[in-house]
Amino acid sequence: MLDRFGRKIEYLRISVIDRCNLRCVYCMPEEGISPISHEQVLRYEEIVKLVKIATELGINKIRITGGEPLVRKGLINLITMLKEIDEIKDISLTTNGILLERYLDDLINAGLDRVNISLDSLNPEIYKKLTRRGNLDDVMRGLKKAIDSSIKPIKINVVTMKNINDNLEDFAKLSIKEPVHIRFIEFMPVFGVEKIEGLTEEEMINELSKYGRLIKTVNPFGYGPATYYKYENAKGTIGLICSNSHSFCDKCNRLRLTSDGRLKPCLFGEEEVDVKNMLRNNASDNILKEAFKKAIYLKPKERNKNKRIHYMHYVGG
Ligand code: SAM
Repeated sequence: MLDRFGRKIEYLRISVIDRCNLRCVYCMPEEGISPISHEQVLRYEEIVKLVKIATELGINKIRITGGEPLVRKGLINLITMLKEIDEIKDISLTTNGILLERYLDDLINAGLDRVNISLDSLNPEIYKKLTRRGNLDDVMRGLKKAIDSSIKPIKINVVTMKNINDNLEDFAKLSIKEPVHIRFIEFMPVFGVEKIEGLTEEEMINELSKYGRLIKTVNPFGYGPATYYKYENAKGTIGLICSNSHSFCDKCNRLRLTSDGRLKPCLFGEEEVDVKNMLRNNASDNILKEAFKKAIYLKPKERNKNKRIHYMHYVGG
């Protein structure tokens, strides 16, 4: 379906849980969050029903996110059910990778097409500090297993922050050695997260240029907001996603579904369409379809630049 500004909406990002096994400094407040009660979280059958309705409006691509999606029980069943929907051509997962080694085989068998791993430092101490609890080895075992597996491409998301993880040498080397796509992301202001200053695009390029000649290259995937570079003879690529310096709104093709069943037209907006209550009040498929149309209609032309993202873990970044 086209929105009011002619953008084709075909991508649904589904947050399956608001809880997370990490407390990354840039995402959650130190004291954690008050989790949504279990009854408020959409059941898998409800998610599948909504996805089927969304396909009637042209959704063909799904990303599972959270919170940390791998901490939700039975996630493999959800992937299996989504894979059975013919119209869905691509199912990907965004994870912090802590539990990836344990679940990767089952995820692939269930039909997962791709995985993005959020990994903000390759230094164990820095990693522990910025995640406030994570063990880097756990993620590295998951990453290695993913690189050796059949799913491609493997993308690594790194949020770059001054005085925290602004030395990017290890990542530069990793992109040379392994066939991974490392995307450096500008820190976005999040409600409840203070005192963090992100690296700008220019600062990222200056830092990365210290470790070899960066060659601008075509986007290997042909879509998405990152600008891509490569070091000479590197197996992988470097992507920069600078949503503060650049606007990607004119190419936005997505809707978000929160873990408690609200459709969000824009990550930075307050507009929401509550589909959980409709579902639980036995709304007809037609009414649910109209709710999706409304959410698509409410997509703004551009995001509100003065807004902080409200609870990233709950919306699913
Ligand atoms: N737990 C999963 C993970 O870590 O990938 C999925 C949820 S996490 C909220 C999704 C993505 O949002 C991650 O790649 C994370 O780095 C990104 N993110 C969270 N807070 C952010 C912020 N303030 N600025 C930029 N990206 C952020």
